Amino acid sequence: MLMLSTELLSDIKKRLTGNNHHVLLTSHANPDGDAVGSLLGMFHYLKNKGVTVSAVLPNQFPDFYGWMPGAEQVVIFEKEAKTAKRLIEEATVIFSLDYNDFSRVGTMSDFLKNSQAYKIMIDHHPDPKEGFDVYYNTTETSSTGELVYDFIGQMGDKERLDSNVAVALYVAIMTDTGSFSFSCNYPKTYRVTAELIEKGVDASKVHKLVYDNYSESRLRLMGFALSERMLVWNDLHVAVIYLTKEDLKRFNYKVGDTEGLVNYPLSISTVNVSVLITEKDRKIRLSFRSKGEFAVNEVAAKHFEGGGHKNAAGGYSYVSMEDTLKRLKDVLSLYKEKLDYKITY
Ligand code: MN
Repeated sequence: MLMLSTELLSDIKKRLTGNNHHVLLTSHANPDGDAVGSLLGMFHYLKNKGVTVSAVLPNQFPDFYGWMPGAEQVVIFEKEAKTAKRLIEEATVIFSLDYNDFSRVGTMSDFLKNSQAYKIMIDHHPDPKEGFDVYYNTTETSSTGELVYDFIGQMGDKERLDSNVAVALYVAIMTDTGSFSFSCNYPKTYRVTAELIEKGVDASKVHKLVYDNYSESRLRLMGFALSERMLVWNDLHVAVIYLTKEDLKRFNYKVGDTEGLVNYPLSISTVNVSVLITEKDRKIRLSFRSKGEFAVNEVAAKHFEGGGHKNAAGGYSYVSMEDTLKRLKDVLSLYKEKLDYKITY
């Protein structure tokens, strides 16, 4: 388990005790299950501790996380900028959950950077940036949700981990491991998960609430994407799905509708890297996944102004869809030899 030094721990404890502190919890833009789960887990834990706490996300999280206890109390910066800015101003402590670089919070970034609050980062992405007071981070874990569990343990507050905290952290771990299919080789993750279930999490119900909660148009968008918009570059062991703004509109796209889509092409035995390309308002978003050793975060960082984990990363392109596809193929061709491998046991 990741350990904080005794000095740091007592400093943090002081800042989280009593009610003259305003704690603000934040996570990254386009929040996923780990972002929402670690945020709400920390939210309920600090509430249970009697701390004045609020939670702000840069933009809306997908509907299928809306059932989580406390979800309705999260302030969305994009919708309630005034409230969010006031909360940032009042904050004495800011938690950065599931991100390690203020550029990941979109338009909220400058407000957080300029805040004089004590900044605690809890995260599992590589290459943390400067600007935080506490770095509670490692890549050797399933998720930020698991690190929040560790943090609560470090604080000596296990008894404050109730069923609300547990369900939020369970969502974080379940979604960030793709239901225990990647980043899931740590025995401790299962010990933590077992403990969360002991605290009252209904694991099969949570899975249904997150994954069996699609709209009809979302499922049809997936079908369309796989049959009409998937390119397989066999010589590179790469598959790409691209969706234009028109495609998304046609299927009544809502936030979260393409979540998980990037993983599907990896189920082709010969595909080692999958890329989902979606056209946004003034840019094109690329989402990368790989199986095995190929590090997609390096490709994203070097060529597409992004980054992430070895097997899951993201980036951006500012040229047309057609040119983005061309560029992507050129870039990946540079890695042709590295992409040529087969997973064996
Ligand atoms: Mn995460």
